[in-house]
Amino acid sequence: MIHKRQGSKAEQGRPGGRAAWQGLRMDPFADTLRRLREAFSAGRTRPAEFRAAQLRGLGRFLQEHKQLLQEALAQDLHKQEHSQPAPASGPLHMLCPLPGRFWLQSAFESEVSEISITQSEINLALRNLRAWMKDEKVPKNLATQLDSAFIRKEPFGLVLVIAPWNYPVNLTLVPLVGALAAGNCVVLKPSEFSRSTEKVLAEMLPRYLDQSCFAVVLGGPQEMGQLLEHKFDYIFFTGSSRVGRIVMSAAAKHLTPVTLELGGKNPCYVDDNCDPQTVANRLAWFRYFNTGQTCVAPDYVLCSPDTQERLLPALQSAITRFYGEDPRSSPNLGRIISDKHFQRLRGLLGCGRVAIGGQSDESERYIAPTVLVDVEETEPVMQEEIFGPILPIVNVRSLDEAIDFINRREKPLALYAFSNNKQVVKRVLAQTSSGSFCGNDGFMHLTLDSLPFGGVGASGMGSYHGKFSFDTFSHHRACLLRCPGMEKIYSIRYPPYSPRKLRVLLMAMEARGCSCTLL
Ligand code: NAD
Repeated sequence: MIHKRQGSKAEQGRPGGRAAWQGLRMDPFADTLRRLREAFSAGRTRPAEFRAAQLRGLGRFLQEHKQLLQEALAQDLHKQEHSQPAPASGPLHMLCPLPGRFWLQSAFESEVSEISITQSEINLALRNLRAWMKDEKVPKNLATQLDSAFIRKEPFGLVLVIAPWNYPVNLTLVPLVGALAAGNCVVLKPSEFSRSTEKVLAEMLPRYLDQSCFAVVLGGPQEMGQLLEHKFDYIFFTGSSRVGRIVMSAAAKHLTPVTLELGGKNPCYVDDNCDPQTVANRLAWFRYFNTGQTCVAPDYVLCSPDTQERLLPALQSAITRFYGEDPRSSPNLGRIISDKHFQRLRGLLGCGRVAIGGQSDESERYIAPTVLVDVEETEPVMQEEIFGPILPIVNVRSLDEAIDFINRREKPLALYAFSNNKQVVKRVLAQTSSGSFCGNDGFMHLTLDSLPFGGVGASGMGSYHGKFSFDTFSHHRACLLRCPGMEKIYSIRYPPYSPRKLRVLLMAMEARGCSCTLL
């Protein structure tokens, strides 16, 4: 079932409007949540075959609607203006008949960052599902040698996945892979800002999954407020720290565990000992990918004034090679998601001094790939997550000063260090903390499903990707199955107590991987 977003503000304000009508209804989510809970209680999602069928369904959805998803992503993140309007009978036209200009993207970025990552997560989960579900045997002590001790990975039950707009397929479906693989019933909440993708997910995805165990809900803050009054067994949230706090306090009312995948400012240290052109290529690609609207993008550069002088022409060269003399007409550069974010980013262009780029066009929500220099630590561009195609450079005199700068701030989601000297990279790694770290590149670590992805401190809590997703969405139940006999030996723990009994019991309880079967 799909819950529709509530009406417009005007509609809601009108007496007898949609809001009033909604208010009269008991609770728009209650029936769906009850249905999902019943399916979970009946054990429907537990068998491996059922989970695998859901994952295969998700894979089919992705393959069969790949073009539709790519068109939706193009509309949401405005990659390339197509010279021809979309055919009126095209599949997206039926789902997303948006008025005005029609945008179509080169599929490169969405293929790399959305479709292929999601598909490989599905494939990995399908290959490993039975192994991940297996009870995990654990070492025993002498007192439990004859028993069976293991960790059982149990589904939590009813989980809520809340996603942001910036990678609206990846950040909605990759957590879903983990939640389904772990055997949960899932309520999926895509972002209302990536409207075209939201529409495809809401209208098409449920057809590929068992609807007694899965639902898409739509809405903004108001609907989310209502939804979060309900008790979930786990909440997986990706988005801003501001909303993360709201979600966490709502979860606290029910003592619901949460994963919070948040944002922040990701520092990037560039050492004097580096090849400026290589660093600039990598920095520019990762900063301007998805028009800078990436939670793990390098947010600012820390380097010496000398390195800055060498980096600037190299960055200019990289930007021109990537996006041409006029990046505005490049098919490879997107647009800013909303007017609100555009205005915020345009405000940031006034910080420091523009060394590269700086142009903007409100009618298209276009911001040129920009580099700012002479930036003060106290300016807004260094106070908030940038989340757009703007890269400030802050000068430091030494590696120590860079490390100190990083450590004076909240722990970031990702941290980058570029140097030809391995010791420099290792020092940054050893003397700082962040959700993830990559030496001599941008967010390539995300391509490894063997690494957990998540923040620390202000950048979030918990992690996912690959098996980490399965573990995140599973309760790790501690189990010990004891043998019913042997009471004579086990009675050593009962009163009346004695020093001898205590000595023997303490020895038997000591942790060890002992295979002795004397007791
Ligand atoms: P957001 O926090 O505004 O919205 C995220 C989701 O929360 C959306 O689905 C939205 O509908 C919902 N929401 C909005 N208000 C709500 C409320 N009052 N109660 C409950 N839910 C509510 O974030 P965004 O603008 O969509 O995304 C950008 C932010 O997400 C950036 O800060 C970015 O760094 C972060 N982000 C983090 C990661 C990560 O993996 N750590 C990935 C992508 C984006």
